[in-house]
Amino acid sequence: MKVQENFNLKKHNTLAIDCYCDQFILVENLHDVEKVMPYVGKQGFFILGSGSNLVLTKNIEKPVVHLVDRFHARVVDGLTIVWAGSLWSDFVTWSVKKGLGGIENLAAIPGTVGGAPEQNIGAYGTEVKDTIVWVEIFNYRTGMFQRLSNDECRFMYRTSIFRESENPWIITRLAFELTPHAEINLDYDGLKQELEKNNIIEPSYLDIATAVTSIRQRKLPDYHEIPNVGSFYKNPIIDEKHHKKLARKYDDLISFPLENNHFRISAAWLLEKCGFKGHRMHECGFSEKHALVLVNYGNAKGKEIISLSKEAIRSVNQKFKIKLKIEPQIV
Ligand SMILES: Cc1cc2nc3c(=O)[nH]c(=O)nc-3n(C[C@H](O)[C@H](O)[C@H](O)COP(=O)(O)OP(=O)(O)OC[C@H]3O[C@@H](n4cnc5c(N)ncnc54)[C@H](O)[C@@H]3O)c2cc1C
Repeated sequence: MKVQENFNLKKHNTLAIDCYCDQFILVENLHDVEKVMPYVGKQGFFILGSGSNLVLTKNIEKPVVHLVDRFHARVVDGLTIVWAGSLWSDFVTWSVKKGLGGIENLAAIPGTVGGAPEQNIGAYGTEVKDTIVWVEIFNYRTGMFQRLSNDECRFMYRTSIFRESENPWIITRLAFELTPHAEINLDYDGLKQELEKNNIIEPSYLDIATAVTSIRQRKLPDYHEIPNVGSFYKNPIIDEKHHKKLARKYDDLISFPLENNHFRISAAWLLEKCGFKGHRMHECGFSEKHALVLVNYGNAKGKEIISLSKEAIRSVNQKFKIKLKIEPQIV
C-alpha cells in the first residue's frame, strides 16, 4: 500500500479536471484493503477507479482509495473472478481472446471492473448485470468481506445499489458467468453492418468486440485527446401520449419502445434539436462528434461543466417538456 499526501487528480479523471485530494491511497492487493481502515475517519473515504464517470467540482477533503490497475482474472468452477482494479477493456480483451462470451458488446468502455457495476454499464444492447454473478465488497464499518448476489445489487438502467446510497464499501472482486456458448447480440443498429462491411458472416466474440471498438472510435471523441466522460445524460423515458405528440411533429425522432407503453428517447437527438452539438462555452462544450458528450477543451473547471450541462437541461425541458438526468457522478 502506498499513501501520498496532497495528490493531484488531473491524470486520474478522464475529464482532466485539476483537483487535489488530501490523501491518495494505492491499494495493491486484498491484504492492503484491510490496511486502509485506520485512514478512514469520520469523514469517510472516496473510491476512485479510472475517474471515467466523475465530474470533480472541488478538492476531495478525505482519503481517496484507488485499487492498482493490474489485470488479474481466473476461472474457478466455471466462474470468472476478476480483481476490481483491472481495467474493464483489458478484461473484455482477455475474455474474447479466450473464446468466452457475454461482455463482447461492452468492448472499449473506459474504467475499471470495480467501477462497472455502479451504473450497470451498458452499450450495444448489453448491460454488465447480464453476466455478474456476485460482487465482493469490503465493508469499512464492519471490517468484513461480504458477497452481494446479482439480485442484491439491484441493477437497473444505469444504476444499482452502489449508486443509490453512500455505502462504506469498496468493491474488491467480481464473479462473472462467461461461456463459449453465450448468445450473440447484433440487434443494435450499425453492429451488423460493421461486421458485414468486413465480410464477417458468423462472427466470433472477438469479431464483435473489434467491430464495437471500431464504431466507438469513429463515433466518440477520444478522451486522451479531448477529455470527456462519455455520455453526459441518461436517455429519458416518456409515456405513449407524449411520444405520439413528438413523433407527429418530428419524423426523425429517435426512440426505442419499452414495456408498459413507454419509450426511451435519444438524449443526443434532443440535444441536437436544441442546437447543443458543437456548442462551446469558454473551456468546455458539447462535442462536435457527438451531442451527448461534454468535453474539456483545456482548463475547464468541474463547476463550469455542470453549469453548461444545466443550461442544456433547461433548454431541452423548455422545448420538449423532458427533464434530462446527468449520468456521471458529481463530486
Ligand atoms: C469515452 C467514454 C465512453 C464511455 N462509454 C460508456 C458506455 O458506453 N456505457 C457506460 O455505461 N458507461 C460509459 N462510460 C462511463 C464509464 O466508463 C463507466 O461508468 C465506468 O464503468 C466507470 O468506471 P471507473 O473505474 O472509471 O469509475 P470512476 O469514474 O472512478 O467512479 C465511478 C463511481 O464508481 C465508484 N467506484 C469505482 N471503483 C469502485 C470500487 N472498486 N468499489 C466501489 N466503488 C467504486 C466511485 O466511487 C464512483 O462513485 C464512458 C466513459 C468515457 C470516458
